[in-house]
Amino acid sequence: MSDTVTRLAEIRTAISRAERDFGREAGSVALVAVSKTKPAEQITEVLEAGQRIFGENYVQEAKAKWPALKERFPDAELHMIGPLQSNKAREAVELFDVIQSLDRESLAKELAREIARVGKAPRFFVQVNTGEEAQKGGVLPAETDAFIARCREIHGLAIEGLMCIPPADEPPSPHFGLLAKIAARNGLKGLSMGMSADYEAAIQLGATYVRVGSAIFGARG
Ligand SMILES: *Cc1c(COP(=O)(O)O)cnc(C)c1O
Repeated sequence: MSDTVTRLAEIRTAISRAERDFGREAGSVALVAVSKTKPAEQITEVLEAGQRIFGENYVQEAKAKWPALKERFPDAELHMIGPLQSNKAREAVELFDVIQSLDRESLAKELAREIARVGKAPRFFVQVNTGEEAQKGGVLPAETDAFIARCREIHGLAIEGLMCIPPADEPPSPHFGLLAKIAARNGLKGLSMGMSADYEAAIQLGATYVRVGSAIFGARG
């Protein structure tokens, strides 16, 4: 087995153990393998090992790698987890099965327009800026309920859950707890939270998707 496939197996085992330890139903946490900056050959190894859900951060990079990979592995599911510019909405709708970085009205409007044109709709997660960091994308916690309502009622987008990226210099658990609370009061079941360093804490607090990159693919250059 390659190092990558060994690490994938270790992460899968750790996710199952965390489900058990924290009283989560077996299989209730899905792994998003974050393959940004990684070459198609390494992604292919992970696909051949059975992993099907992947995350990418850049539309252009995903467009270069994924159409060929999806041809070989038609049941692969691709999630957009990076900041999305409105002028990339069409390509994003064409390429991605799930968009996790929906975070503003102008983007929601553009996505709704492209869904109507392309005739295919991704599923959506609203990104919440739980740490209220100026440099980070995401809707502010206090504005999230209203934003979700507008996405659903005005733009007709299927909102499946919420996503957050906690501040790098703070313990993540309060952010995971806040995200879970906002999701619950909006009737949302999906919670995308937790990365290589903190996915177990996220599972404890209710994650349904964990986004793990470097712990599978190795450090990024
Ligand atoms: C890069 C990235 C990840 C994966 O981070 P690792 O620390 O490598 O696991 C997860 N989520 C988002 C939004 C990312 O940009």
